[in-house]
Amino acid sequence: MDVFRAMETYGYGELYLRRDESVGMRAIIAIHDTTLGPALGGCRMIAYPTEEAAIEDALRLARGMTFKAVLAKLPHGGGKSVILRPQKIVDRKALFQAFGRFVEDVGRYITAEDSGTSIEDMEAVRTVTTRVTGVSPERGGSGDPSPFTALGVRRGIEACARHRLGRSDIQGLHVLVQGVGHVGYHLCRELSSVGARLTVADVDEKKAKRAAEEFDAAIAQTDEIFGLEADVLAPCALGSGLNDATVPWLRVPIVAGAANNQLAEPRHGDHLHDRGIVYAPDYAINAGGLINVAHEARGYDAAAATAQVLTIHDTILEILDRSDRTGLPTHRVADAIVQERLDEARASRR
Ligand code: NAD
Repeated sequence: MDVFRAMETYGYGELYLRRDESVGMRAIIAIHDTTLGPALGGCRMIAYPTEEAAIEDALRLARGMTFKAVLAKLPHGGGKSVILRPQKIVDRKALFQAFGRFVEDVGRYITAEDSGTSIEDMEAVRTVTTRVTGVSPERGGSGDPSPFTALGVRRGIEACARHRLGRSDIQGLHVLVQGVGHVGYHLCRELSSVGARLTVADVDEKKAKRAAEEFDAAIAQTDEIFGLEADVLAPCALGSGLNDATVPWLRVPIVAGAANNQLAEPRHGDHLHDRGIVYAPDYAINAGGLINVAHEARGYDAAAATAQVLTIHDTILEILDRSDRTGLPTHRVADAIVQERLDEARASRR
């Protein structure tokens, strides 16, 4: 892998690597942009097939965090860290303390929980640096971000329904929820509280059953949910759900869900647009959790965080209106708004 070429591809200036043999740590911190404030983004600890794959993941994810933070009007840029999961972890607390020292030394980056890391890990990080969010509420943190992500997604769905269906509420609308894990479960709660009708699918049958029992949801097979007729499809499982095998078969006027990187490729967003399906760009609609941890970084106030999460409704409407005015697909409109805001901020500093 040509590391500098990869940095150029994703528009990078800074990439940090650290190896700490005493705890078996190999870690990467990617800082994509700090124009609007310190980079914010989670720490992933998973197994990668190669070191290059880990670097690429950090670069790709941190760039995504810039886009999410800018669109959510947060005083932050995008960053992400990756710990290559060691074959054997002898002392997990010591590992995360070593990672915390890395974060502290790099500066201008604030970390948080992500795939493969936990609140306890972030508490270990907290013992050596204040540059960490996602610690438990008992320690002044904001805890699990999923309910905030779900609230933002519900508001985004309401904005889409207003725009596409002329609805002032979503009572009685039929929503397909793909994946009822952390966010999908809370989204079902949000949607059923405002009278939406639900169909859920999850590879984990227990989770699908729990949603069916608690929210009176119907259960669909995981391989059929993208083809069902409904008002809204909310992808809340893994990325790349919108691809050549699904987009042609969708029978919904709206796609709006929590999953990151829903479009397998940008052209799938173009295809949705051509089919007249309103797509809420993933990083615009799923920013609730990030907004919440950004508030934690400044001294947590749940009411202020919630109020800002609710503004996702207007962000989505702004994107949809501009898409109508310009004829551009929504994912391209969102990217353009981010670029304009960054250019403006950079120009005002000159
Ligand atoms: P999670 O792992 O708790 O939930 C994902 C669920 O999807 C699981 O229940 C899993 O069994 C299910 N699933 C996996 N493959 C599936 C398939 N093919 N069909 C149906 N179900 C399937 O994860 P989460 O925290 O709820 O996050 C869900 C998505 O939202 C991810 O893409 C994540 O990156 C994104 N996201 C999460 C947050 C957050 O606050 N947790 C914030 C922003 C974005």
